[in-house]
Amino acid sequence: MLVARDDPLDTYLVHHPEALFGKPVEATVLDPANPHVLAPQLCCAAAELPLTPADLPLFGPTAETTLDALVAAGILRRRPSGWYWTERQRPDVDLRGAGGGPVAVVEESTGRLLGTVDTGSAHHQVHTGAVHLHQGTAYVVDKLDLADSVALVHAEEPDWSTHPRDVTSLTVLSVRQTRTAGPVTLSLGEVEVTSQVVSYQRRRISSGEVIDTCQLDLPERILKTVAVWWTVSPEALDEAGIPEVDWPGALHAAEHASIGLLPLVATCDRWDIGGLSTALHADTALPTVFVYDGHPGGAGFAERAFDVATDWLAATRTVVAECRCEQGCPSCVQSPKCGNGNNPLNKHDAVRVLTLVLASL
Ligand SMILES: [Zn+2]
Ligand SMILES: [Zn+2]
Repeated sequence: MLVARDDPLDTYLVHHPEALFGKPVEATVLDPANPHVLAPQLCCAAAELPLTPADLPLFGPTAETTLDALVAAGILRRRPSGWYWTERQRPDVDLRGAGGGPVAVVEESTGRLLGTVDTGSAHHQVHTGAVHLHQGTAYVVDKLDLADSVALVHAEEPDWSTHPRDVTSLTVLSVRQTRTAGPVTLSLGEVEVTSQVVSYQRRRISSGEVIDTCQLDLPERILKTVAVWWTVSPEALDEAGIPEVDWPGALHAAEHASIGLLPLVATCDRWDIGGLSTALHADTALPTVFVYDGHPGGAGFAERAFDVATDWLAATRTVVAECRCEQGCPSCVQSPKCGNGNNPLNKHDAVRVLTLVLASL
């Protein structure tokens, strides 16, 4: 039984059950050559039993260079018989893979540990003032202490919810692959994403009314990862009948829907990926939509998206075009994780842009 949520992926599956029942087992996406994935695996293996040269083929072609880096960093020791783990305790590996230690959520009055939030999500989910749900109970965060990786909370059921706002910018570091088709170019490459949670809105639960916006003083976070992106020429957007003032809304809506649908082609969660869209990006000098992997170094989602871009974007277009809402809703172009309050969004022009991109590709 599938209980469908109000998001683009579930909406697509409800209307296209063959995507679930008529398909072979999905491809699990993992990039074993990513040093962020491989290095902790090598440390764990060496802690069990020293690694020998005969073991290296098991770990892929980048094992040796990764081992060299671990030796240079003093984490492993190279001896004639192999590579040795040097510490007394076992390697500290985060199985969720997000990098950095998790933030502990602690009830201040009792000292009880309620759970943990990975570092990547902590600024969004447990910033000071956030309403944090844990196993059906609401807590309000009194303080997020980044130095100690702890969020102190108390149980409280306020009649508002909190919605973080962030500012994100992205720099293209290198282009790995690119495919040009008329006015559209699809690319895959390394990017650096800088984001900062700057404030949050409090909204009345009953009415959705905005009560106020509170500023936050959180540091920037920098993520080096892999992204897939597409550009489209301004002339083609003109020809498709999309007024220039609607470009940001059209691209933003297409970005949200495509993030929502990526789990259809890559085994990931929409919370594992992020996006950025703009009518003019400094590195591409064109209207651009980026979708990036939320894991440092990339976990393989962007590569997968690049490889099956037409299937992925066709499903995205279908969801947006077939959604019966007027102006966009959580089932098509709105995103629960939008750092910009789902603004601007233009559903109808998103369909036009996606049609243009697909026709070209
Ligand atoms: Zn809709
Ligand atoms: Zn957004």
